[in-house]
Amino acid sequence: MRVALHACCGPCALEPLDALAAAHDVVLVFANPNIQPAEEYERRRRTIVEWARGHGIGIVEVRAAPGAWDEAVREVRDDAGGRCGRCYELRLGLVADRAAGLGCDALATTLSVSPYQDPGAIDAAGRRVASRAGLVWLAADYRERYPEATRRSRELGMYRQNYCGCLPSRAEAERARAERAAARAARRGGAESASPDAG
Ligand code: SF4
Repeated sequence: MRVALHACCGPCALEPLDALAAAHDVVLVFANPNIQPAEEYERRRRTIVEWARGHGIGIVEVRAAPGAWDEAVREVRDDAGGRCGRCYELRLGLVADRAAGLGCDALATTLSVSPYQDPGAIDAAGRRVASRAGLVWLAADYRERYPEATRRSRELGMYRQNYCGCLPSRAEAERARAERAAARAARRGGAESASPDAG
């Protein structure tokens, strides 16, 4: 089959591409209007496009209409559960709409390599958009390949982002890092006050 592989970023594309290319003809499709702000979008886009072209791998970019992501998640923006499902459907839908023009008969995504994503919601969104577009949905859970994807992307010197993509996810990631730092500081403080006074 010829597969349109939705690629969320360079590091996440490495392992699913290897897995699928062993049995199929694969074209990468970068369709991620969720990535904000614009400089971050450009950095992730450039990372995967340069890597793919350097390795002779076909890649196309599909852009959504301005504001498409905000519109898709409007009522659930602050609820990661509902927000991510709609985000997956928007991105996979963009790829599905382009798939026939690329000569593809199947759809897949790199999203499920990340342990931070929701494989059930990805699968549900993939099934819906593939069925609408008359494509085969290649469901896969690549999470066990995440350590290898991390190792390879570091070795390649690829840009590795520290939040999922949207501005709410950036704020959530910053909050989580601040909480972890505060917890570490509290543990250190506790250990120091519990240790014998050297004076
Ligand atoms: S956290 Fe990630 S998957 Fe969820 S809505 Fe934001 S960009 Fe999309």
